[in-house]
Amino acid sequence: MIELTKLPYGMEALEPHISKTTLEFHYGKHHAGYVNNLNKLIAGTPFEGKSLEEIIMNANGGIFNNAAQVWNHTFYWNCMTPNPVKDKPKGKLMEAIIRDFGSFDEFKTKFIDKCVTLFGSGWTWLVADKDGKLSIVQTGNAQNPLTEGLKPLLVCDVWEHAYYLDYQNLRANYVNEFWAIINWESIEKSY
Ligand code: MN
Repeated sequence: MIELTKLPYGMEALEPHISKTTLEFHYGKHHAGYVNNLNKLIAGTPFEGKSLEEIIMNANGGIFNNAAQVWNHTFYWNCMTPNPVKDKPKGKLMEAIIRDFGSFDEFKTKFIDKCVTLFGSGWTWLVADKDGKLSIVQTGNAQNPLTEGLKPLLVCDVWEHAYYLDYQNLRANYVNEFWAIINWESIEKSY
């Protein structure tokens, strides 16, 4: 049985950047829906009782899609915080960003551009390869960089359900608001 992870803050906590209404639907309906669908799909299959990561690495079709969407959303919630204590990372992660993107501002511009220009539904990720080299990748629908051997560090959900209630078609506005509440404190520890 895969559980719906608890949201790490209250439904209103990310306002005014992301509204309570959006979180009620996004977490309470979309994320919860993927968990329910996954549990129905894996019942009685070899995936029942396996971890989410094992399912993602080995399943395909509907089981993969729902498992990856469960993982992606939990990861996305943890990338944000109602109380950002810093507006950029420091230490090893900051050094790697400068090494691999030129500067933090260049990284920010590129990441936001990759969010805004992703066609259709998907996710924009900052990932590290096994040598620690950073890159920004876009994945469509439920796809997850774990299946490519990459370690996710940051993700922005650019499915319309992530922003349409607050920003309608203005995805760039949502991405800029997302940027303001990134939990760099936690992300730099994961690198
Ligand atoms: Mn979503």
